[in-house]
Amino acid sequence: AARAAAAHHAKQKAEAGELTIFDKIISKEIPSKIVYEDDDVLAFRDVSPQGPVHIILIPKDRDGLTQLSKAEDRHEKILGHLMVTAAKVARQEKLDKGFRLVVNDGPDGCQSVYHIHLHLIGGRQMKWPPG
Ligand code: 5GP
Repeated sequence: AARAAAAHHAKQKAEAGELTIFDKIISKEIPSKIVYEDDDVLAFRDVSPQGPVHIILIPKDRDGLTQLSKAEDRHEKILGHLMVTAAKVARQEKLDKGFRLVVNDGPDGCQSVYHIHLHLIGGRQMKWPPG
């Protein structure tokens, strides 16, 4: 319940155009273990890993993409870039037996940070259906 309330508050702030914790990771104000970076995308290890490998991939410019359900035609390039980068990082992490790529959207999706991101999780056998 506490996480749900905090997530709801974060969503309201992000929709108002406020920054999230990921902006501080992008600016390096908050340190993170970066595994890949280019002009448009940053990938770093999740602080609360759900597997031996758990990496978050984000666009540096949120451009209105607080969550995937806000995607518009102009976001095609960055969304494609995030997916291709996830594949590159998976190879870099030697996830040769596979991995899972997750986008949590909104309260039902258990999203807590309203700056779109991919979760790249691997290094263990996943289950289906997810919780
Ligand atoms: P969501 O729940 O929104 O899909 O995912 C947000 C993710 O960001 C969570 O898995 C959470 O552990 C991660 N996260 C939140 N704050 C930080 C932080 O300050 N540093 C890092 N490395 N990960 C974070």
